[in-house]
Amino acid sequence: MTLPVAQVAVDQATIHFDKFYSYRIPAELQDHVWPGSMVLVPFGRGDHARMAVVLAVAEVEEADAPPRLKALYDAAPEQARLTPDLLELVRFLKDRTFCTWFEAVKAVIPYGAQYMAVTAGGKPRMKNRLQRATEWVYTLTGELPAKPKPGPRQLAAVEALRVGPLTGRQLETAGISKPTLDTLCQKGVLTATRQDKTLDLFAAIPFDPQPLALSAEQQQAYDALAPNLADGQPHAALLHGVTGSGKTVVFLKLIERTLELGRKALVLVPEISLTPQMIRRLKSTFGSRLAVQHSALNNTERLLQWRMIQQGNADIVVGTRSAVFAPLQNLGLIIVDEEQEHTYQSESAPRYDAHDVAKKRAAMENALLVFASATPRTETYHAAKTGKYQLVTLTRRYGGRPLPNVDFIDMRAELTAGNPREVSARMVQELKTNLQNGEQSILLLNRRGYHTVGMCTACGQVLKCPNCSVPMVYHKPQQALMCHHCGHTVRPLPQLCPACGGQVRYSGFGTQRVEEELHELLPDARILRMDQDSTGQKNAHETMLAQFGRQEYDILLGTQMVAKGLDFEKVTLVGVLGIDSLLFGQGFRAYESVFSLVTQVIGRGGRASLPGRALIQTAVPNHPVLQLAAAQGYEDFYREEIAFRKYGLYPPFCAFCVIGFTGAQEGAVALAAQRFGALLAQHAAQHPQLPLRILGPAPMAIAMLNGKYRYKLTLKCRNDAAFRALLRRALDDYAAEKLPQKAAVIVDFNTDGDL
Ligand code: ADP
Ligand code: ZN
Repeated sequence: MTLPVAQVAVDQATIHFDKFYSYRIPAELQDHVWPGSMVLVPFGRGDHARMAVVLAVAEVEEADAPPRLKALYDAAPEQARLTPDLLELVRFLKDRTFCTWFEAVKAVIPYGAQYMAVTAGGKPRMKNRLQRATEWVYTLTGELPAKPKPGPRQLAAVEALRVGPLTGRQLETAGISKPTLDTLCQKGVLTATRQDKTLDLFAAIPFDPQPLALSAEQQQAYDALAPNLADGQPHAALLHGVTGSGKTVVFLKLIERTLELGRKALVLVPEISLTPQMIRRLKSTFGSRLAVQHSALNNTERLLQWRMIQQGNADIVVGTRSAVFAPLQNLGLIIVDEEQEHTYQSESAPRYDAHDVAKKRAAMENALLVFASATPRTETYHAAKTGKYQLVTLTRRYGGRPLPNVDFIDMRAELTAGNPREVSARMVQELKTNLQNGEQSILLLNRRGYHTVGMCTACGQVLKCPNCSVPMVYHKPQQALMCHHCGHTVRPLPQLCPACGGQVRYSGFGTQRVEEELHELLPDARILRMDQDSTGQKNAHETMLAQFGRQEYDILLGTQMVAKGLDFEKVTLVGVLGIDSLLFGQGFRAYESVFSLVTQVIGRGGRASLPGRALIQTAVPNHPVLQLAAAQGYEDFYREEIAFRKYGLYPPFCAFCVIGFTGAQEGAVALAAQRFGALLAQHAAQHPQLPLRILGPAPMAIAMLNGKYRYKLTLKCRNDAAFRALLRRALDDYAAEKLPQKAAVIVDFNTDGDL
């Protein structure tokens, strides 16, 4: 006799304790459970219901089966099962990011498509997290009998349905009510079926394809890339093009070719604020078989779009990081636009990099993967330079437009001249000139809030978040201090130091303060502030950018979300405020981020017929990174940066892995980090051929976050299977350690310093 047995991984495991558990498949669930099935299992001593995913199914000899084998409680229907492709991505995430199985499962399917445990009829059962939104669809299946004489509305309904099936909603807008339809169904003239609600999120964007004539350089880029769509092999390329060179136009042509070949395309963008522009272009060029996946959709919208993709009804998917898991079949092209952006890296488990998942998918599907940027990551450019990726370049702006002229404003001189403001006199002058000429300006200030620090004038202490070791920021509209990490809020605004009772003085400039300053200095200017606080509302990004595009505003002031991808013809002035603190940031990617941010924001100016100019306010105008960014000298920057990476041993010359330890008790956290380091060193000693340097343990730069202490080990290693196996053994040992308090462990291969 054999028993059908499922091997599952359960929800709510920890990374150092995420095993397979065996369960008997009861008779009523036989033929309903496959690898990839979502199931509900009795877990632990109390047999509490827990969600799990099946990873293998086997017939086991009764004699060989584990004793007291428990049976599955329930299984989700087949349509909820992870497809073999998604299951392979789950395995990939588990292997590469050291997450738990179930964390990986939750990453690849949207919330709305997931299941939860409920009790039904006294038994543990599973239920959809979201009820699927469905609607009635009517199809003409007979003819109206002549007697009794049909009414005008019945005739109208039949006429409307002659062209094809319509939904109840569509018929209702045509003035045909549900009772009329019901009657017609009874007569056998119509049949009604229920189907997933469709929703055209972009109905308002007209289908309006414009013929695209590529410039000579764009054509060369296209010609170099297009053959790789059709040869049945996976390919990866870097499209390196200066800002305004028309990378998007090359994407459109590549997508067109992909669709011609009967394949599908996935376009990743780094931020929601950039999706509306991309969607507009794609929808007007390719029509409605377009789906989106990003976090500004509500759960229902997201689920419906996901089902549309899953059912094969979308040819193009646009979205942010998690869209890399979109269940497209027959994927031919993956584009990662602005590939240098850190938003492609997930900062919670699974801590994956969309780059890596995109590479995996391109390999699975024999697709062409195109990374695109004016300022690629140093690692990406290195891979292109050394022949791992195909390198395709666009060196000129479309239409031969010059890059903006860049000038520096020395803020030390401003201070000496007695200007206490954040916006320099020269910047104000230039903004005025633009106002008079009816041209638009973009100002970048990467700090939100009003005042950025409150400091005691007596003891010199900075007001910090009680849960996180970072200064709190004053937000004027709320009259409150807020922590930008955990959201902790202090109201009313403290005037006295909580430590010594001294007077608190607020200083430092955030976007809210600069907005106020600009209103004083330029009372006629229409100013649009765009930051995390002003874009909380649904579709806020889209609305704001559309308003700016229609020139309802003169100045767009904002955080990094105004720096990238935007294409507005009337923008001729770009101003950079308060960049210096980023230059002296920690982490080995600090220079690369500043170079990229400044280059990108400068590139927003002078993109159409009007020439652009840019002004950078700084106390260090001679800083080489700013100078290189001003010259848009990517090659020169790369040469310096790659030398630094090699000399200091940083990626791409090694993998950089941070192992974080967090917990409520500082001593326990420090001890855990130390023990883990020792365990890892023991294993490493047995494999002297594996390159590995262990640095630390040390407290993280933000030593406390959300009330938890944080320590880290930094590893410089080679991220291959042998190293990952070693790390896994250290995690197993750590799980077996008898420590008084076990700190939580986090493994991150994407960070450049802290978690
Ligand atoms: P990038 O993404 O490289 O910064 P875009 O793709 O946004 O540049 O192109 C910059 C501007 O030039 C856009 O307004 C775009 O419509 C225009 N453009 C680029 N190439 C062409 C082309 N071949 N025909 C018409 N307009 C083009
Ligand atoms: Zn906090």
